[in-house]
Amino acid sequence: MFDSYLKESIIGRAIKDKKIKIKFYNPMDFCEPKKRVDARPYGGGPGMVLRPELFLKAFSKINLRYSVDAKKKVKIILFSTSGKKFNTAYAKKSAKHYTDMIMISGRYEGIDARVKKVLRAMGHVVDELSIGDYVLTGGELPAMVLIDSISRQIPGVLGKYESLEEERISSSEVYTRPEVFKYPPPGRGKKSKIYKVPKVLLSGHHKKIDEWKKKKNNKL
Ligand code: SAM
Repeated sequence: MFDSYLKESIIGRAIKDKKIKIKFYNPMDFCEPKKRVDARPYGGGPGMVLRPELFLKAFSKINLRYSVDAKKKVKIILFSTSGKKFNTAYAKKSAKHYTDMIMISGRYEGIDARVKKVLRAMGHVVDELSIGDYVLTGGELPAMVLIDSISRQIPGVLGKYESLEEERISSSEVYTRPEVFKYPPPGRGKKSKIYKVPKVLLSGHHKKIDEWKKKKNNKL
């Protein structure tokens, strides 16, 4: 699931340049022969719950190079629909404070809550995170969202131009050439409508342009 995304563009380049390193552990590989990865939930309900021991066994295989004191440099994230909402501020803080992040993706009805309890009892920093108010099939897409967003905050991952872009006031309403766009194109029978680039963007007045962008962002 991750392969094609992680090979492309900025993230692909960051991995190639060794700015970030990503490893995968599949809890299925830690399932005893002839046993299931999931089991019925206590308290009832239709979905199945992922058993805790698979995740803890997988976790024990992660080569944590850190002493107990340095555990604070490792952040563990458990993806959950009811977790704290992920945002850019979280991405910036994570890139600054943590050297390693371990992201645990659930499936089905989720992961047995004792995984979180055991990891916290071991002294690890564990956050439950949601990437938005919707339910996805698993935590893989949320993991990709975090990998992308946090990696962009790591020095050297974005090129000089992209970093400058990130710091600027930006708006998602953007324009390029031509200055006057006619659609449908003239000469096709139907009357063309004219779409112009907003005048302020052609003015060269940077303060006014930033104000326009801020206004646009508030309206979106
Ligand atoms: N009924 C469950 C619930 O509301 O939590 C649905 C679990 S969902 C089908 C399976 C897994 O996908 C979750 O345990 C979580 O790891 C991940 N997941 C789904 N949507 C998510 C979201 N918006 N943010 C973060 N993780 C999500």
